[in-house]
Amino acid sequence: MEKIGFVGLGIMGRPMALNLSKAGYSLAVYARRSEMMQPLTEVGAIGCESPQAVAEQSDIIFTMVSDTKDVEQVILGENGIIHGAKAGNLVIDMSSIAALATRKIAETLGKKGVEMLDAPVSGGDKGAIAGTLSIMVGGKTAQFERAKPLFDVMGGNIVHIGDNGAGQVAKTCNQVLVSQTIAAVGEALILAKAAGVDPANVRQALLGGFAGSKILEIHGQRMLDHDFEPGFKAQLHQKDIKIALQTAHDLGVALPGTALSSQYLNALMGTDQGELDSSAMVLALETLSNVKLK
Ligand code: NAP
Repeated sequence: MEKIGFVGLGIMGRPMALNLSKAGYSLAVYARRSEMMQPLTEVGAIGCESPQAVAEQSDIIFTMVSDTKDVEQVILGENGIIHGAKAGNLVIDMSSIAALATRKIAETLGKKGVEMLDAPVSGGDKGAIAGTLSIMVGGKTAQFERAKPLFDVMGGNIVHIGDNGAGQVAKTCNQVLVSQTIAAVGEALILAKAAGVDPANVRQALLGGFAGSKILEIHGQRMLDHDFEPGFKAQLHQKDIKIALQTAHDLGVALPGTALSSQYLNALMGTDQGELDSSAMVLALETLSNVKLK
């Protein structure tokens, strides 16, 4: 069995690493706040002092941190994975970051004979806990096949999209859809409430028809309850939409709906609410219409 390393044990990384441990893999882990490692060390994982130390003890090293600069830091920075990795090792970044940066990281690792896959996910904390994530993979076919048994532990719908960076492009497309759907669900529920109709009944009815979606189901309920505990933090969603808009800018592609949805996320950041779940976008819509769902 390949020895596994895991760097980044937040809302997503912790349950994903726990699922690998439950499946019988031996793990070396790193989190910059050492208390975050405890749930893993309690089940037998080795807690390490740096990403480099994780790599020294592993064949395949996962990263699940926040943003592009964080992935660059834990892989290429001081005490980063590259300094502990050996030729033949495989680094799998499951964070959501810019595709161009991913390709550059893969190139740098490649000079040392270290392989890389980008494998961002969708499915939220619930999917991470249940091991049912959608995983979008970029990189060589042989490395995809090598990693597939591990992806099977963490996910359900696992698709090899293309070369390095292709997984990140797919994830960006995912966020284009998700951000606009959250805004659309918020608009529909607010309209129902303003018209004097119970938005919970509207949600229930729409779930069975063409407008039904996981976002209407899960985020719609969060909006009705004003339960904005993350889940997926608005600040991370804003990061993803920034990547989408920058990519569209570079390619000369118009994404007017995505640009609009970014404004709700900006409003959350501007009001110190970036730590809330991204379904809190509805708070900005509530303010615009002076309608409260709860
Ligand atoms: P999170 O709870 O904030 O966890 C991120 C973890 O990465 C934190 O524990 C953080 O450490 C660590 N980290 C960040 N920068 C680091 C650095 N430079 N060096 C070392 N550790 C670093 O976020 P998350 O929700 O797990 O998301 C992780 C990634 O998955 C993001 O790219 C996100 O966009 C993506 N994603 C999230 C979801 C979701 O529903 N949550 C769904 C799909 C994809 P600290 O705890 O010390 O800050």
